[in-house]
Amino acid sequence: MSTRLNWIQEELDQLKQAGLYNRIRTLSSSQGAWLTVDGQSVLNLCSNNYLGLANHLALREAAEQAIIHYGVGPAAVRSIAGTMDLHLELERRLARFKGVEAAITFQSGFTANLATIPALVGKEDVIFSDELNHASIIDGCRLSGAPIVRYAHSDASDLEAKIQERQGQYCRGLVVTDGVFSMDGDIAPLDQIYAVSSKYDLMLMVDDAHGEGVLGRGGRGIVDHFNLHGKVDVEVGTLSKAFGVVGGVVAGSPLIVEWLQQRGRPFLFSSAATPADVAACICAVDLLEESTELVDRLWSNTDFFKREMKRLGFDTGQSVTPITPIMLGEAALAQQFSRELFAEGVFAMSIGFPTVPRGKARVRVMISAAHSQSDLEQGVEAFARVGRRLKVID
Ligand SMILES: *Cc1c(COP(=O)(O)O)cnc(C)c1O
Repeated sequence: MSTRLNWIQEELDQLKQAGLYNRIRTLSSSQGAWLTVDGQSVLNLCSNNYLGLANHLALREAAEQAIIHYGVGPAAVRSIAGTMDLHLELERRLARFKGVEAAITFQSGFTANLATIPALVGKEDVIFSDELNHASIIDGCRLSGAPIVRYAHSDASDLEAKIQERQGQYCRGLVVTDGVFSMDGDIAPLDQIYAVSSKYDLMLMVDDAHGEGVLGRGGRGIVDHFNLHGKVDVEVGTLSKAFGVVGGVVAGSPLIVEWLQQRGRPFLFSSAATPADVAACICAVDLLEESTELVDRLWSNTDFFKREMKRLGFDTGQSVTPITPIMLGEAALAQQFSRELFAEGVFAMSIGFPTVPRGKARVRVMISAAHSQSDLEQGVEAFARVGRRLKVID
């Protein structure tokens, strides 16, 4: 027997010992406030289904109609024979929704970042990146070959200091930040970051994956939240979270969109999104444009849950969005907390290193408009019971 793969077993064993091994649960129901997980009905406090659209009747019907009309597969990359009128309609609709001139869609938010960053900068250039940016931004930055300068999290003065240190040493510069940080639920100070990036005439890109459908008027995102229309060059979003489907989007100037059609590698070398996905996304835009009801409910649910958790004495960290971390410290405690919640019928995942720093493990709760008041009350009560049992609260 060869031993050349033994290192993998050793690595896996180490992860298990450190309480960092990813145990993946299996769902046998659709997404919603309640899920069937490993055969058990549990309250869902972990998906990114912010508006409850993942199993919304109107989206399902739109997807069905698209399958009847266009079939199930795109059968090509966008630039060869994969761009259907449906793809273009979604892009027009997303641009209008976000109040920008143009948009281009991708297979996912992850691929949107992999497409965009290497198209904008290369090894002669420089990227200024928030130290807590999402993995897909980090990978996009690495793929570009540009030197990456990390600035302190959400710190516009550190960003400015880092820019000054590099002055005269690069051709083009790009500042990139998450809009909402997915592990802490805090919002980047995009107004301050814009003030700095425009002072030094750098390109500015924000990845609003957790702000799309959540922040701003009727869920129009972080640029709308800060009223920075026309000032942010690239707004990346995902259609896989609040929009309830799957896909990514870049919204902004028509020049950037045209450039990504020529140079965005996941656009050129990976197949288009399926007709069903695209039609469901168009339907999600329809719903968001028709009414703010779902976004309003998401925020009232969020306010209620946070208030109750704080009242019980839990630490919800820096969160100001529906992403609500319950800070616990050690990874082993967070894992035990999550397991005991599950036994109480509540599904909320623990998150540890390397997704968050060591010693900052947590159980992360994702609030949705799909939750009813009584769902949230049940969730809070389960947290209270487990929290007392594990001596996290009194
Ligand atoms: C979730 C997330 C992504 C990935 O989006 P997908 O559409 O699931 O690929 C990208 N960036 C950030 C900041 C995210 O939170």
